Amino acid sequence: MKLKTKMIHAGITGDKVTGAVTVPIYQTSTYEQDGPGQHRGYEYSRTKNPTRYALEELIKELENGHAGFAFSSGMAAITAVMMLFDKGDHIVMTDDVYGGTFRVMTKVLNRFGIDVTFVDTSDFEALAGALTEKTKAIYIETPTNPLLKITDLRAVSRLAHEKGLLLIVDNTFNTPYLQRPLELGADIVLHSATKYLSGHSDVVGGLVVVKTEELAERLHFIQNSTGGILGPQDSFLLIRGIRTLALRMEAHEKNAWELADFLSQHPKVKKVYYPGLENHPGHSIAKAQAAGFGGMISFDVGSEALSEQVLRKIKWFTIAESLGAVESLISVPAKMTHASIPKDRRDELGITDGLIRLSVGVEDIDDLIEDLKQALGD
Ligand SMILES: *Cc1c(COP(=O)(O)O)cnc(C)c1O
Repeated sequence: MKLKTKMIHAGITGDKVTGAVTVPIYQTSTYEQDGPGQHRGYEYSRTKNPTRYALEELIKELENGHAGFAFSSGMAAITAVMMLFDKGDHIVMTDDVYGGTFRVMTKVLNRFGIDVTFVDTSDFEALAGALTEKTKAIYIETPTNPLLKITDLRAVSRLAHEKGLLLIVDNTFNTPYLQRPLELGADIVLHSATKYLSGHSDVVGGLVVVKTEELAERLHFIQNSTGGILGPQDSFLLIRGIRTLALRMEAHEKNAWELADFLSQHPKVKKVYYPGLENHPGHSIAKAQAAGFGGMISFDVGSEALSEQVLRKIKWFTIAESLGAVESLISVPAKMTHASIPKDRRDELGITDGLIRLSVGVEDIDDLIEDLKQALGD
């Protein structure tokens, strides 16, 4: 089955009893047993719920893995994956990782003895140099948020397996429509499904797909023990979102190309970050490991005054955190998504006060260009 067909037909579709073409929302906490201990596959909804299971089967097939898991948020998914590790274990992570991931690693999981080193994973030598005797995993975001840096997943997966480490990839930005890390050698792929997979700014959720039976058993045990599951209503909404993922990703990317082109030529824009541009340092790797360059663009206008002006004047881009939905969003990462990263570290990374991030929506491109033009003007 080709990928676009999978978006529609993979996983569990419909309902055998009634013929309903969508999976019902099984709003139930428990299930009748035929006798004590004789259940029909479902005992209690923290352990398994049919709507959630349909979503888990769908994402499993899209990422080409062994098992899928749906969590109550991306952060719940990331935290559960981190619980695969023990006190004293060390993880090497992409440096401009999602702000919430940075926070959970440095303010919560550190208290449980899980150590982390942040490194520019797009620099292979730097990554290899950060591994220690205690390292158990490499955790990658590619493209990163908000600078869209690219890490070579094939190269890192060779390194990880040579050293016996797990490779974990946050695939939120590219989605399985554009990039499938497990096929490139990763062991675990995860998503904030809140973003492109949902696509409509109406769900908070997280998804994980693992490559092996062993990881599936361990993660299922952790999920059932700690309980960060996605509810049936949100599972239904995510299935609905994923059905149109291919169409939406194509529309996002088409608009993103035009905006990247427009911004690159604008005299007030100092720098444009979009992996599709040939001058982007990760362009050729992005091209080799993903089927497209996605819908996220960042650009630096050089000053806080100008970024403030753009956000004050912009009309069709909503000022909001998050990304990946049909409506265009605009943010200043230094003041919003990345505010929890200390300022000196932000400046070190290039997340300046003049950096603006766009999640390009699927509106008519003429309106989006007009809007940015007037917002950047005097
Ligand atoms: C939003 C986001 C997360 C966290 O997901 P939530 O659903 O908000 O908990 C993790 N990684 C990336 C790349 C994100 O964009």
